[in-house]
Amino acid sequence: MSSIAALDSKSTIDLFNDYVIPNYTRYPVSLVKGEGSRVWDAEGREYLDLFPGWGCNILGYSPPAVVEAIQQQAARLIHVPNTWHMEQQGRFAEFLCSRSFGKAFFCNSGAEANEAAIKLARLHGSAEGRFRLITFERGFHGRTMGALAATAQPKYHEGLGPLVAGFRYAAMNDLEGVASLVDDETCGIMIEPVQGEGGVRIPDPEFLQGLRNLCDEHGLLLMFDEVQTGMGRTGEWFAYQHTGVEPDVITMAKGIAGGVACGAMITKDQYAGDLRPGMHASTFGGNSLAMAAGLATGETIEREGLLQSVKENANYIRERLEVARTSIPIIRELRICGMMIGIDLTVPSTPAVGKAMERGVLLNATQDTVVRLLPAMNISREELDQGLDVLISVLHEMAEAE
Ligand SMILES: *Cc1c(COP(=O)(O)O)cnc(C)c1O
Repeated sequence: MSSIAALDSKSTIDLFNDYVIPNYTRYPVSLVKGEGSRVWDAEGREYLDLFPGWGCNILGYSPPAVVEAIQQQAARLIHVPNTWHMEQQGRFAEFLCSRSFGKAFFCNSGAEANEAAIKLARLHGSAEGRFRLITFERGFHGRTMGALAATAQPKYHEGLGPLVAGFRYAAMNDLEGVASLVDDETCGIMIEPVQGEGGVRIPDPEFLQGLRNLCDEHGLLLMFDEVQTGMGRTGEWFAYQHTGVEPDVITMAKGIAGGVACGAMITKDQYAGDLRPGMHASTFGGNSLAMAAGLATGETIEREGLLQSVKENANYIRERLEVARTSIPIIRELRICGMMIGIDLTVPSTPAVGKAMERGVLLNATQDTVVRLLPAMNISREELDQGLDVLISVLHEMAEAE
């Protein structure tokens, strides 16, 4: 009795201090409720979130169509193992592949989707003794050991060696550099069509075309990590569709199920058989709740014409920030691809996060100097204006302090 009463009186933050491994830097705020691009904390404070769910809440918090789909599916059938067929998995696979290509494998996260891609590339190359992958500096592919080795950022490797062997790192937009790393043990190239965590860096389309040619020449798989760019965020279903270059593999996660854990790897029909039975699996991959949520997310994007709104809002954001920039000398560069917005500063970007939060707007800082926004695809123009007003005034303030 007494111990239960004692537990009840503990605040959420106390519980974290006592029982949750401190591997994240958390704000001293507990979020309790969300709706669209708005979210509320335990004290009843309202925030406008320009980075909802770290990119997972592609339709904002608790989108009604997704909530309803999960409720209905939960009442009918929560989990079916992958030894059976299940309607929702088939339908979500059809949804994704008919907007890209090939066939899908489902898992639960971005790192897992990339592990599947790494295995596919190795299995495909194994008959010829090919196993090496080329990935890119400032890339981010996840935290599991394979995805970590693919992530060419030394700060994430510290203390974790030896890393999984067989990865070589190249500089983005340096095609000759990449070509010099290809040998007869190389099986593939993995790149983000827009680097997210890396600071919203957009590779040159000619560079991606060059990678395509290199892969065709040497029989390598070209794999695009669309974990952050995938399923509409950039204004196309997949970011490769802006580039004129079709990869052999795309991986996705984050927003694809509207905030429910879900990942997928899609590959062309001719490579799908390389991931043969017994070689790869995920117990919860493609589970019925995630599939129902994913379908509802995709159908909402389609029904509400959100690919188009993303394009219009991206132009609007660019216009407003270009104007603001003329009087904010600390803005070094603007990098925008749909609802992926990177504002590269000449000064550290972290203070912008705290200053905006004080004014009720949530955003992200990455790569030391970049302010990153990943607004929900369905954010309203009014909310966007409110968020940009705060962001711009924060940047003015930071510029004046220089
Ligand atoms: C977030 C991210 C990952 C890792 O996804 P998790 O779901 O955290 O494993 C991989 N690649 C990219 C491009 C990402 O943005």
